Amino acid sequence: MTAPVRKSTIRELIARAPHGASNDGSGIVPTSAYFGINTFGARQMRDKLPKDVYAKLVASIRQGKKLNLDIAPTVAQVIKEWAISRGVTHFTHWFQPQTGLTAVKHDAFLSFDDDKQPMESFTGAQLIQSEPDASSFPSGGLRATWEARGYTAWNPASPVFIVESGNTRTLCIPSVFIGYNGEALDEMTPLLRSSDALNEKAIALLELLGDKGVQRVYTTMGAEQEYFLIDRSHFALRPDLVMSGRSLVGAPPPRGQQLEDHYFGGIPERIQACISEVEHELYKLGVPIVTRHNEVAPCQFEMAPMFEETDIAVDHNQMVMAVLRKVALRHNLQAILHEKPFAGINGSGKHCNWSLSIAAENSELDGTNLLNPGKTPHQKIRFLVFLAAILKAVHRHSGLLRAGIASSGNEHRLGANEAPPAIISVFMGSMLTRVIEAIAAGKSSANAAQAMIKLGVARLPEIEKDNTDRNRTSPFAFTGNKFEFRAVGSSASIAFPIVLLNAAVAEALGEITEEIRGKLGARGKSVDDIVLAVVREAFKESEAIRFEGNNYSDEWVKEAEKRGLPNLRRSPEALDQLNTRQSKTLLTRLGIFTKAELESRYHVRLERYIKDMLIEAHTLKEIIDTLVLPASLTYSGSLAASAAHAVAAGITRVPQIAAANEIGALIETLVEQRNALDSLLGKAEHMHDDAPRQAKLLTGAVADAMALARAASDALELKVADELWPLPKYREMLFPV
Ligand code: ADP
Ligand code: MG
Repeated sequence: MTAPVRKSTIRELIARAPHGASNDGSGIVPTSAYFGINTFGARQMRDKLPKDVYAKLVASIRQGKKLNLDIAPTVAQVIKEWAISRGVTHFTHWFQPQTGLTAVKHDAFLSFDDDKQPMESFTGAQLIQSEPDASSFPSGGLRATWEARGYTAWNPASPVFIVESGNTRTLCIPSVFIGYNGEALDEMTPLLRSSDALNEKAIALLELLGDKGVQRVYTTMGAEQEYFLIDRSHFALRPDLVMSGRSLVGAPPPRGQQLEDHYFGGIPERIQACISEVEHELYKLGVPIVTRHNEVAPCQFEMAPMFEETDIAVDHNQMVMAVLRKVALRHNLQAILHEKPFAGINGSGKHCNWSLSIAAENSELDGTNLLNPGKTPHQKIRFLVFLAAILKAVHRHSGLLRAGIASSGNEHRLGANEAPPAIISVFMGSMLTRVIEAIAAGKSSANAAQAMIKLGVARLPEIEKDNTDRNRTSPFAFTGNKFEFRAVGSSASIAFPIVLLNAAVAEALGEITEEIRGKLGARGKSVDDIVLAVVREAFKESEAIRFEGNNYSDEWVKEAEKRGLPNLRRSPEALDQLNTRQSKTLLTRLGIFTKAELESRYHVRLERYIKDMLIEAHTLKEIIDTLVLPASLTYSGSLAASAAHAVAAGITRVPQIAAANEIGALIETLVEQRNALDSLLGKAEHMHDDAPRQAKLLTGAVADAMALARAASDALELKVADELWPLPKYREMLFPV
């Protein structure tokens, strides 16, 4: 019997010198000295561009418009000079197809002049647009009806940046990705459209409330990113982690997270070295990471940026995920962004802090956070009306919001003990709940000024962040001056869930505006009276979505059912919410998706779910066949041989026989479950022309069979001789020595 590579890996890990920080000087140079040096945005361009060109560029950024062709060559020229001065040789449009990741295709600056002399060239046209072949990205059927070709176009609101990889530096141009008939093939285009829709509806409401001269209402986003870091040597020995990002087998160790000693504990030096380097890279890219801490599970950590405008935050979160994955390898670590890499201990989320802000010439209004309760009666009423719209939106579209966070990974996390359940509800905190309930119960005839005093609104202080009570079990929680959408998965792109949220809120703002308009001019009523009456209706209508209690409890599941809130546990049923008439009406009316684009979102997500499940099931089967079974059979063989020897030697007490029988029984169960899984998998694979049915089988019977096969494997892991076990165990991966 030779010991498996797992054992020698452990020996190597112990022998390996502790890894300190790489000496990149970031410790002595203040962060501000190099923050953003690898980006080239409006601020840097101001110094380099002629005044009129700069003005046009800024105008196109403000209006979210494509760059004007007449200024593009000048802008391209200054970008090229900057990039070349920083050692860049290639450029690429950087975009977000519906893979959850980013995509690039590098082109060299290298060109040749008329005399065949080499030179660097980068044209305005190359800056504005490129033409990747769209046919190899997920399109969910959009390709079947339209041309295969697509193009990417620079989103000038997001600065270009340089990605460093070893000695190679590449200029990345953040872009949208669209088909030739304008159909959105990516995650960013719908986000920009949803921002426009929300902007338009919010401005209309603000004007009605008397807030004139608002240029723009935009959403802000601060995405807290949770992740695991484990040793790369362990990772490499786990086909399940390599193939699917989560462990498909693995017996729970006696010690998990029950000591509650990891959360906010000291960050181990080796991890700190890695995180500091991640931050250093991100600072160079202008990503404002400001917090770092240990999360609840062993080897789990979190980083959070200072909030930014949402489309920038979406780009930046993609960079966070990419840099984490890349830099971890330099430290012999593996960053795991899956929502539930290890069964039985906490999974990872991406808490999306979201709010609405005003841009205005008027300096009093400019920068106002609309979810800040404010001080004056006017500000308070404005706060309440936006709050009412959000409650109304989440109430009406809670199923759709659930669809926005549906993935094979998040399914394992939602409803598990640390994550919000699959039922979407809103937490408001006790003070606001009192106010909302008082308003909802109040008489509509009340004069607003008096009512505000009577209902406690006038006393509503500015809710300091620290004052708000927290409910970590809520999927969507108000936290003082923003909402925290906590149900988003750690590996997901932020864009899609926020598109759906923006859309739902835009619709509600539009309806509230119409209701107020319809009542204007009623005798004896001020605008505030009318607004308060409309707010009251919205609070009443959305009552069912508010929940302050423990979202993990069984009582809540029953209560939510009574309230008629959807409880969509599995991804396929959650994704079905994209197909309802209500969702279609919402998203097509606001111009965020065409009918075909929305259908394509459904297909892409469902196909992705199916592929994930098939990969997992096949990987599990292979692990059982090639690792767990051989090790178990070797062990049972050695027990049998030892028993035979003992018997031959005339020994009468032969406990090896009972041990071999016990292992034999466990192996039989494993083989049985493995075969059951195999036949279901065969069935599922024959259903590829009926995706919804296939998904149903995978999420039901196949997932159940996988759980049973895993249980059989885990039982063996706890019995087979440690030195024969081929897979790194949970305790080794999660409790590094
Ligand atoms: P928590 O206690 O939830 O971990 P943190 O302060 O660590 O709180 O993270 C909160 C996140 O919310 C940060 O990324 C922060 O920038 C962000 N945030 C704060 N204000 C806003 C806002 N108005 N809009 C969006 N995000 C915000
Ligand atoms: Mg947090």
